[in-house]
Amino acid sequence: MIAYPFTYRRAQSVKDAEAMLAHAPDAKLLAGGHSLIPAMKLRLANPSALIDISGLPELSYIRERDGGVAIGAMTTHSEVMDSDLVRHRIPALAHLVSEIGDPAVRHLGTIGGSVANNDPAADYPAAVLGLGATVTTTRRSIAADDFFTGMFATALDEGEIVTEISFPIPKRAGYAKFANPASRYAMVGVFIADTEAGIRVAATGAAGCVFRAQKMEAALADAFSPEAVGSISVSADGLNSDIHGSAEYRAHLITVMAKRAVAAALENRT
Ligand SMILES: Cc1cc2nc3c(=O)[nH]c(=O)nc-3n(C[C@H](O)[C@H](O)[C@H](O)COP(=O)(O)OP(=O)(O)OC[C@H]3O[C@@H](n4cnc5c(N)ncnc54)[C@H](O)[C@@H]3O)c2cc1C
Repeated sequence: MIAYPFTYRRAQSVKDAEAMLAHAPDAKLLAGGHSLIPAMKLRLANPSALIDISGLPELSYIRERDGGVAIGAMTTHSEVMDSDLVRHRIPALAHLVSEIGDPAVRHLGTIGGSVANNDPAADYPAAVLGLGATVTTTRRSIAADDFFTGMFATALDEGEIVTEISFPIPKRAGYAKFANPASRYAMVGVFIADTEAGIRVAATGAAGCVFRAQKMEAALADAFSPEAVGSISVSADGLNSDIHGSAEYRAHLITVMAKRAVAAALENRT
């Protein structure tokens, strides 16, 4: 068995983590470890150093701020799911998080890790893009529309740390996911939000990266009903095709999940 040595260091603060990253450019931040550690076990990642930010209270909070909900990057999925503030102000977000993985994943996985990782089948990117959230880092604020740039790719630069994600409160929103029965990741998940800035529809799991479905947004702006999206057929061009489902199957699922997400938004389901 080939050994892949790496060093492990625990950061005492965000500034400390930044300084450690600057000195070890191929180091990786360790948050909940529920994407990074499996990737290392599979030899898909081989960092020279792990910088553990999991013990930093300054990155773990959920607050109402400027008419929205601000969530620190190290807040776990279960903390978001159980938050009275999130359940009351953005019930669709609490619902989405309740569908991530299983209890073990939700107790350790973090919002910052999920967003920074940008797995094409992850749930959080759909909410971040669907709600038009803002990702704050150690260097700047990045609008969701500019953050997710491709498969496992984001606008983050080398050494840049996600510190917070802030969500505007929608008038209504819903999320529907068709989960892979083995992994619980999204075969397709659709988040729909009726916001002050207009209707936003974001689909995850279907392609290499979360994306907005503009045709559906236009249809829902005319009539916010499941029927409005039910008649829209999505092109399979560029969608994922693998052992779990063809591109055509995923295209069909986008329409079905969009209908369910609108119905959930209308019910204001928690
Ligand atoms: C069995 C299983 C089932 C799962 N099912 C689902 C599912 O259904 N839906 C879903 O969405 N996810 C699922 N996940 C993934 C899970 O949600 C992870 O927790 C999440 O993707 C990554 O968060 P993490 O805190 O564990 O990050 P880590 O694994 O610690 O880190 C992931 C990556 O992000 C980087 N990173 C971490 N924090 C920051 C930060 N603050 N700033 C910059 N970079 C950072 C790390 O360096 C690393 O490259 C599943 C995972 C497992 C193991």
